[in-house]
Amino acid sequence: MSMQDEAKPLQGREDMIEVIGLNKWFGNLHVLKDVDLNVKQGEVVVVLGPSGSGKSTFIRTLNALEEFQKGEIHIDGINLSNDVANIEAIRKETGMVFQQFNLFPHMTILRNVMLAPIWVRKWKKDKAEKIAFELLERVGIPEQAHKYPGQLSGGQQQRVAIARALAMQPKIMLFDEPTSALDPEMIKEVLDVMKTLARSGMTMVVVTHEMSFAREVADRIVLFDYGEIVEMGEPNEVFENPKHERTKAFLSQIL
Ligand code: ADP
Ligand code: MG
Repeated sequence: MSMQDEAKPLQGREDMIEVIGLNKWFGNLHVLKDVDLNVKQGEVVVVLGPSGSGKSTFIRTLNALEEFQKGEIHIDGINLSNDVANIEAIRKETGMVFQQFNLFPHMTILRNVMLAPIWVRKWKKDKAEKIAFELLERVGIPEQAHKYPGQLSGGQQQRVAIARALAMQPKIMLFDEPTSALDPEMIKEVLDVMKTLARSGMTMVVVTHEMSFAREVADRIVLFDYGEIVEMGEPNEVFENPKHERTKAFLSQIL
């Protein structure tokens, strides 16, 4: 993002993600119901909601990991249709981090981070290696570069997964419960990396149950329930003054 964009208030910025009337079914199960959501460049949206409410399906749909049946998705102006060229273009723009880190166990940390840019972006090995080192520095574990995933803690592995996603130089980062599989003492180190990323101006959509992260980092909270967005607003509004009964019920369970 340029300095000029950084200075602009969110309202004045371009939409990086535009979702209009999105509907998805798994067979007869209607999992996303008329979902509308716009995310501005540099905005951080935290997605909350009970288990099974469609949060994962929603962010997987944004990255073309799931098909949808009705509605429109535009990622940085690219229409996400079933056109393979568009899907590839969108996957290059979005990085995704999952609950499970899914690192390649037989490759070093460095090679895990270098792999995708070499294959997808056709970078030379030297360039990929240089950038991989920089990213490991950025997520705070350059000294782990030559180890294997099994030698790292869960928190370190998740930081590698973040570095790996960033290696593709995405414009958007999607996170699906990135700390849910971690021991409590490792959650903070991963959230800290995500906070730094948010402050650097990355556009982010984050599914999480970490309420302190949501309060501190989110520009906006959306709450899913039964495949619908039932509440959307700034963290203070949503936490202090939820409008919808279903939001109150959800918050009372987790806060
Ligand atoms: P969340 O991430 O909020 O827990 P999900 O998006 O994983 O919710 O799931 C939403 C609903 O879709 C749930 O009822 C779930 O069982 C169902 N679902 C998710 N993935 C599939 C799938 N591949 N096939 C069929 N049903 C699915
Ligand atoms: Mg989920």
